[in-house]
Amino acid sequence: MPRFKATTSEGEVYRKPQKEKRIRFKRKYILYAFVSWIVANVLVFLAREYISNYFFSAQLPQLQVENYKRILIFAPHCDDETLSSAGVIQKALLGGSKVKVVVMTNGDGFTRAAGQNFGKIRLSPDDYIRFGYLRQNETIHALEDLGLRREDIIFLGYPDRGLRFLWEKYFDSKVSYFSPLTRTFKSPYSNSYQRGVEYKGINVVKNIQSIIKSFEPDLIIYPYSRDQHPDHWATSAFVKFSILTLNYKCEEWQYLVHRGDWPTPFGKHPQMYLVPPFKLAFTDTKWYQVPLDDYMIERKSNSISDYHSQMKVMRGFLEAFVRQNELFAKIDSKNAKKYEGDNLFSDKYLVSKEPTHDIWSLIFEKGADIESIFAAHDSKNIYIGIKMVGSAKKLISYYLHIRAFENYKYLGRMYVLVSGSKMNVIKTMTSPAFSAQNAKMRRKKNQIEIIFPKKDLQNPNMLYLSVRTEFLGRQLDRSAWKVIELK
Ligand SMILES: [Zn+2]
Repeated sequence: MPRFKATTSEGEVYRKPQKEKRIRFKRKYILYAFVSWIVANVLVFLAREYISNYFFSAQLPQLQVENYKRILIFAPHCDDETLSSAGVIQKALLGGSKVKVVVMTNGDGFTRAAGQNFGKIRLSPDDYIRFGYLRQNETIHALEDLGLRREDIIFLGYPDRGLRFLWEKYFDSKVSYFSPLTRTFKSPYSNSYQRGVEYKGINVVKNIQSIIKSFEPDLIIYPYSRDQHPDHWATSAFVKFSILTLNYKCEEWQYLVHRGDWPTPFGKHPQMYLVPPFKLAFTDTKWYQVPLDDYMIERKSNSISDYHSQMKVMRGFLEAFVRQNELFAKIDSKNAKKYEGDNLFSDKYLVSKEPTHDIWSLIFEKGADIESIFAAHDSKNIYIGIKMVGSAKKLISYYLHIRAFENYKYLGRMYVLVSGSKMNVIKTMTSPAFSAQNAKMRRKKNQIEIIFPKKDLQNPNMLYLSVRTEFLGRQLDRSAWKVIELK
């Protein structure tokens, strides 16, 4: 009789050998361990936000609002000033400081919000303008609730979703930008800072300069250059450009509103902190915070609620800014070193480190993902290096937009395109006196080097520049606008 047989009521059954039992036990053990590992990971994944949130916030140095007596805040749309700086405004007013808010557009291009608000699918130009006035009123209510007076709020009346075009194509052009929604070439709003102002970039600069000159702020707060919303980064560029051309010296803080799914998690989490998106925490930006007390957080939340038209369509996003602190960035200008004839793409010539792998489409188009920008100069030339994550490709367009200055006097701009089968430098636009005829381009795998004779840019000693990549007319990546001094 074999050993592994037992007798039961149902007769004889085969009994598993001990070894097999042990393997089974081991399998079970591995399965349990695996399941617990997954559960632990899910928990860490769910809690990561809270863990990293606390960890990151503790690293952020604090900014002192009390140090500034005249604060000027720029908002691309009605609500950005409240999302970014409602706490700063309260602190400043409490300390007896003066605050002015400049709203660049009236947010009249938000079709979904306008449609929902008026219960219409097809909107007329008048509807968009009506929506612009409605959003202005929301701003006035929100800011009055924070203690500002109506006369401290300035509406410039530029076209929503059009600021980028005013900065790039319609900066110094003969024709003005045409807003396809309100169907106008100029501000249709009777309360614009410059009534009937034509939609040209140069007018935006004149308005900003005039406000800075008359208000004389010691702190200017404006959008962060790496904000993904075109109106936001364009506002950032306009404000910085205006400060540069005035050679105005004051403290500058930049704020972020739009970057991927930031600030996560959406919804109201007043116990959490506003911390920079992970990828942006490791660039050349320094991040700071202004802590708020419970009363200030409550008032900020109330002011955000005053934006009824926005709360209807993106409540969770707006409420995600109701946190323990407000977040600000500072970007320093960089010095381009003297070129020593060596490798331009070495650390000593680095002027901008960009976040990579953080935009979905770029995972498949590494040749468009901008990694860093290098700059150098010698007595004759300016050398600009653009480095991507992957190899540069013919189908991708690489645009370099340079604005040149001599002792803060604006000389003009040049917009060049590197693209096509030969990847030539193509001048797309310059101020009249500039030439791109003698610009040279060298390309090696993921590096593009462009060399300009200094005299073709009227011998500047400072540049303000940015690079962007495009595929079939669609923007893929864009670097921050950077001030580069040629010393
Ligand atoms: Zn905005």
